[in-house]
Amino acid sequence: MFLDTIAQLLELPQLHVLEVDLASDWLTIRAEPVTTTAACPLCQSVSQRVHSCYERTVLDLAWGVRTLTLKLEVRRFFCDVKTCLRKIFTERLPDIVAPSARRTTRLRQMLESLAFELGGEAGAAIARWLHCGAPSADTLLRLIRRAPPITPPSPRCLGVDDWAMKKGHTYGTLLCDLERHQVIELLEGREGDALAKWLQAHPGVEIITRDRASAYADGAKEGAPDAIQVADRFHLLQNLSKALRTLFEQQPQVLKLPSPTTDRKPADTPLTVEPSAIALIEQAPTDTALTVPSLPVKPISAYLRQQQANYQVVQALRQQGLTLRSIAQHLQINVNTANKYLHLPAPPAKQHRTTLKLIGHEAFFYQRWNDGERSPKTLFAELQQRGFQGGYTTVARYVAELRGPLPADQAAAAPAAPAVRLTVTQAVRVLLLAPDQLTTEQQTQLDQLRQASPLVERAYTLAHQFQTILHEHRSAEFPTWLEEVQTSQVPGLHGFASSLKKDLAAVTAGVSLLWSNEHIAYCTSLLASS
Ligand SMILES: [Zn+2]
Repeated sequence: MFLDTIAQLLELPQLHVLEVDLASDWLTIRAEPVTTTAACPLCQSVSQRVHSCYERTVLDLAWGVRTLTLKLEVRRFFCDVKTCLRKIFTERLPDIVAPSARRTTRLRQMLESLAFELGGEAGAAIARWLHCGAPSADTLLRLIRRAPPITPPSPRCLGVDDWAMKKGHTYGTLLCDLERHQVIELLEGREGDALAKWLQAHPGVEIITRDRASAYADGAKEGAPDAIQVADRFHLLQNLSKALRTLFEQQPQVLKLPSPTTDRKPADTPLTVEPSAIALIEQAPTDTALTVPSLPVKPISAYLRQQQANYQVVQALRQQGLTLRSIAQHLQINVNTANKYLHLPAPPAKQHRTTLKLIGHEAFFYQRWNDGERSPKTLFAELQQRGFQGGYTTVARYVAELRGPLPADQAAAAPAAPAVRLTVTQAVRVLLLAPDQLTTEQQTQLDQLRQASPLVERAYTLAHQFQTILHEHRSAEFPTWLEEVQTSQVPGLHGFASSLKKDLAAVTAGVSLLWSNEHIAYCTSLLASS
């Protein structure tokens, strides 16, 4: 009874358990088949006459943390069919283990999955961790090679795109089942012939999404003439972007934007530093010292003043639209430091550690400094009268540190933001970005670009109309848009419209249908990383 339960727990109802041997990290089960007969593998006739017995040892899935070994009492049978060439045969256990295999079928399947998911080394390591014996990485790779090839069914919606085996040199064609989200074939080269042959061998494709090159269009037409061709949305947007490049390449003068500061602030206005920082030093308390117990304000060191000045300059230049890099270059500070100043909620206030060693006399020193006394000699003499034990150099160095260079002089050197010259790529990007994706800087640039030329303004309107038509599948508006572009005479866009007209059926399908090659981009990235 107990042994039968074990067979049930192991999900091996075909076996009758004879013996269980349990140790701390392994478990051995001796068992025999429940059946008393076996079929001859050659003539399929059933035999009851046992010739002999032998023991077969196979590894199975682990039992908890124990490696499980099955010792199977397998019989040899006589085949009594006179005409059969096989006189003696071994009984098969097709549900448990393949002939002459050393692992059960279910263990082999698990190792195969590990190999496919993780590869040889990692799969073998996990198998050992799962107490499924100690298969080598090579064993797992062999399992992959022996696995029967999966032949996917012919797709209904096929995505076609090229991908680079070696960028600039070798290209292939990637075919993707858009409904199952699976790569189904990699073809050599990116010519239409291979695609046409593949389509002829795999009938049933109804929709083909593709780029705008004629090779795939021709291949698809030849291989599957009845299929609907869809110009892929990504490639349509790429074409639009190229068209705008042409526009800016032909109108380079619009890329030079006027300085964004001139209308807001005169260029030669010196940047001012928060006066409160200096006021602490320059305004001495006059009438408080006698009545209130004196709490002199600690003077601000030159280093801190420098930090505060830098903070003000960073904030001011950023408002003028300068990049972080150019701000850092101007101040001759690290970009990270400039970034730190940019994000500080208020000017830095923490005192830098000074060389002051006026132990016991700080209050007096601060008081005198705030009164306006700047002479190290006088200060040293006064301190000595109060019993100061330190040297003159200490006082002189501290005075120099507090005095420092005047921050206003440095801040005045901050220039107005220079005129910006956009690259073609930057201009196209600014023109195509959705309004909510623009930074403040880009918004200003966009406004300036649109004001610079009526052609750019027209291109901006048309490009955004096209994006809306494409994203929202407004196919009804597409013909009107196409007519508008053709009459607009915008360089670049005009040619774009002509190319769309040549491929009108596929483009219209791309605008109106939901199918697109978006999944292919993901698949290509997987291929590139493998
Ligand atoms: Zn036989």
